[in-house]
Amino acid sequence: MLTIEHLNKSYGGDVKAVDDLSLTVLPGDIYGFIGHNGAGKTTTLRAIAGILSFDSGSIRIDGKSIVEEPIACKREMAYIPDNPDLYEHLTGIQYLNFVADIYGVSARLRDERIKKYADAFEMTPRLNDLIGSCSHGMKQKIAVISALIHSPKLLLLDEPFVGLDPKAAHTLKGFMKELCDDGSAIFFSTHVLEVAEKLCNKIAIIKNGRIVAAGDMDKVKGDESLETLFLELTEHA
Ligand code: ATP
Repeated sequence: MLTIEHLNKSYGGDVKAVDDLSLTVLPGDIYGFIGHNGAGKTTTLRAIAGILSFDSGSIRIDGKSIVEEPIACKREMAYIPDNPDLYEHLTGIQYLNFVADIYGVSARLRDERIKKYADAFEMTPRLNDLIGSCSHGMKQKIAVISALIHSPKLLLLDEPFVGLDPKAAHTLKGFMKELCDDGSAIFFSTHVLEVAEKLCNKIAIIKNGRIVAAGDMDKVKGDESLETLFLELTEHA
């Protein structure tokens, strides 16, 4: 579903944010991406999403290059940044319909999905409010609903649990599992190692732009906790 080969990205020559990064995310994977602050997670996610150019290497979504076929790739995926910037002058429902229009989701399907996700996130009574009047967590929930509205084959999430209350975080984890059970794939960054350990079947640890461990969760961490492994591998980051 997602293949990254030898990805390199520098900012202004000096800072090598991503250094020869390769990894593969398969259908059904919930793939966690962890690393210290400044390790290169957001840079990688933005490059995959097709909103940040990179110096060399390749990124393929379902076999298609994000550089050569960006629209075809974007049709198949959704990306929620760590701080989603939504259109504050729209109401929640106007924004969700706008996103559904972009992805060509039929009226029947969008109504069904908006109801399902908005009810689960307890957002239905707030969808007629202006986004500008919503709290940070509510905006995060609207961003999540908008990402699920076209049932993406690849869902990219940057720190998705930050700002969500425990119930909403639990609901999101349930939808992440449901999406992957249906054959989609998720690649997401998080600093919450307990969540990553429980939720992910695969994990990559990035340190100073380089992958230092990647693969099946059980094989990567062995008998250690993910926290212990992370601290060992990222010492002196
Ligand atoms: P965090 O966990 O703090 O969100 P991250 O792993 O997402 O960190 P990135 O945001 O990808 O890390 O940053 C990787 C490196 O690239 C850091 O050294 C950062 O300072 C640098 N960097 C990121 N964006 C820019 C930019 N626009 N211009 C210059 N340097 C940047």
